[in-house]
Amino acid sequence: KFSYAHRLGFGSGNPTGKIPLGLKRKGLRIVVTGGAGFVGSHLVDRLIARGDSVIVVDNFFTGRKENVMHHFGNPNFELIRHDVVEPLLLEVDQIYHLACPASPVHYKFNPVKTIKTNVVGTLNMLGLAKRVGARFLLTSTSEVYGDPLQHPQKETYWGNVNPIGVRSCYDEGKRTAETLTMDYHRGAGVEVRIARIFNTYGPRMCIDDGRVVSNFVAQALRKEPLTVYGDGKQTRSFQYVSDLVEGLMRLMEGEHVGPFNLGNPGEFTMLELAEVVQETIDPNAKIEFRPNTEDDPHKRKPDISRAKELLGWQPKVSLRKGLPLMVSDFRQRIFGDHKVGST
Ligand code: NAD
Ligand code: UDP
Ligand code: UDP
Repeated sequence: KFSYAHRLGFGSGNPTGKIPLGLKRKGLRIVVTGGAGFVGSHLVDRLIARGDSVIVVDNFFTGRKENVMHHFGNPNFELIRHDVVEPLLLEVDQIYHLACPASPVHYKFNPVKTIKTNVVGTLNMLGLAKRVGARFLLTSTSEVYGDPLQHPQKETYWGNVNPIGVRSCYDEGKRTAETLTMDYHRGAGVEVRIARIFNTYGPRMCIDDGRVVSNFVAQALRKEPLTVYGDGKQTRSFQYVSDLVEGLMRLMEGEHVGPFNLGNPGEFTMLELAEVVQETIDPNAKIEFRPNTEDDPHKRKPDISRAKELLGWQPKVSLRKGLPLMVSDFRQRIFGDHKVGST
């Protein structure tokens, strides 16, 4: 809609619409909020590799500089320490809006801040998208389905969410973020995309973020028992991070608003997951049962027909293939380089 020169304010004095010399660039200018986090940093790697210019906006609540440090010094990469709850002026073509803690342990730590990040943070990034005519992608979550009464979950399902529970800051926050996204689309003509992401794992996850895959892998490596919450019969579907990043980029570049479920339909009980971790790391790892957390969804599995049909996307990496890739990263971070490759 707008040329980059227009966005920088050069448009009005330049009736030819030509980009002034020195401002020509290859690729797009893209902001990734939450780009120093787990998913964001893998997305940044792909965008930089494609030749785009990437601005990461992150307050480092759960993200780490180490996740993006390999891009320092690259003129196509910028890192801004900024909290999306505060307004931000930038000139960009696309906004991938990921900023938000994703692990229950992190998002429950300061629930009001989680809501502010989801609501005010998303509002600000939509305001930015509106101002500069950028395309905006929201990373929503399978948690919008709550403790689902439909299985597997289709995008048409409205969900079963407790509005006053300990998970609500995240679930309801993301639901409101989806609402805001659709209202900016309908009301202000902002080009938007919505992804509903299902449990994702891979290298660079926070080691102690409390999510089940990172917990089990770290526990098995440290020779601690795997902590299974409740009876371990609840299910989740685990997606490897490279599959998710591919889906997010296809969604952004495609013509469809969504929402789209992005997840791996392979469904595992937590006990089955523990078995896969045992097979991969340590067959002698013990299992220890712990009381479950409040409002824990009993099952979760995406119906991905819509993404298959409209984005031509489906996950490629099975849990048994993806887990070892994460294990080598965790081993390196827990024990240091000298243990890499050893078991
Ligand atoms: P993460 O915690 O590793 O990354 C989130 C990033 O956002 C971090 O770098 C953090 O510092 C940053 N951040 C948090 N609050 C911020 C704020 N107010 N201002 C600026 N930066 C802020 O989590 P992730 O797994 O990479 O998740 C990324 C996105 O994907 C999140 O929006 C999450 O809700 C969504 N998602 C992830 C999963 C998953 O399984 N990983 C599942 C569903 C949805
Ligand atoms: N905003 C921002 N960057 C921008 C444009 C807007 O952070 O480049 C913020 C702005 O401060 C406001 C929010 O986005 O809080 C919504 O902006 P919008 O213009 O939609 O609404 P208004 O400012 O009229 O309330
Ligand atoms: N869980 C578990 N042991 C752990 C951490 C989590 O059994 O050490 C269970 C948790 O009760 C839930 C599932 O694993 O049923 C997934 O939890 P996670 O926090 O990874 O993500 P969620 O899907 O709940 O957001």
